[in-house]
Amino acid sequence: MDSSWPDPYGAGVAALNALLSVVLAPSCAVCEQSLLRPTGGPVCDPCWRSILPLTPPLCDRCGDPLPTWRALSIPLALCPRCRRAPRLVDRARAIGAYDGTLRSIIHALKYEGRRSLARPLGALMCQRGADVLHAAACAIPVPLHPSRRRQRGFNQAADLARHVGLPVVPALRRIRATATQTSLPAARRNRNVRDAFAVARWEGSLRGVTVVLIDDVSTTGATLEACARVLKDAGVAEVRALTAARVVARLSVTDIQR
Ligand SMILES: [Zn+2]
Ligand SMILES: [Zn+2]
Repeated sequence: MDSSWPDPYGAGVAALNALLSVVLAPSCAVCEQSLLRPTGGPVCDPCWRSILPLTPPLCDRCGDPLPTWRALSIPLALCPRCRRAPRLVDRARAIGAYDGTLRSIIHALKYEGRRSLARPLGALMCQRGADVLHAAACAIPVPLHPSRRRQRGFNQAADLARHVGLPVVPALRRIRATATQTSLPAARRNRNVRDAFAVARWEGSLRGVTVVLIDDVSTTGATLEACARVLKDAGVAEVRALTAARVVARLSVTDIQR
């Protein structure tokens, strides 16, 4: 967020904030400092401002940082992974890397049920993923399996999708419960999510349109790829992806030398 964090309610809210911060003394869900502006949500402004974007140059396709500016000399700047295997997600971007403050905020949203965080996270996704959202027809949240959805009570991806400024279309459903991706080694993640998704029964048509998949975290991109496969089979022309965070691939020496 920029330094002029908007305060839509004006002076009355300033007084309310002053009162709440004394009476309730709520603290930031990330840094635990007391909140000066409790009506602004459970995370303090300095924490929001500390979330840095990924440093360019980025892979045109998956959004991973590229090792050097050398990449700009080739017409399409692709990371080693995207050069090795073509991706079905045409373009993926995130607010930043999955660590530090951003990781803590996503944890608070997902595991502590701080659902009010979806709105400011969505606003940051809009800001940093503007090129991904541009001229797209709709946002499609990555679905949870109904059993996981019941357990958590909400789908964080659907909460985020509501705040990116596009119509939300629940076009996908999860037809197979899968092990949590974070518990699996990278090599097994593709297999884990293969055939886990299907197009939901829905009255509109996705044929020929550009859509944006929305999720909280992209790890290896396997989940997004599995969703993109189903959507492209259903006739979607272009599948982009915007996540709150992405786990940045550590490039090996051989990757950099390629
Ligand atoms: Zn804080
Ligand atoms: Zn890439």
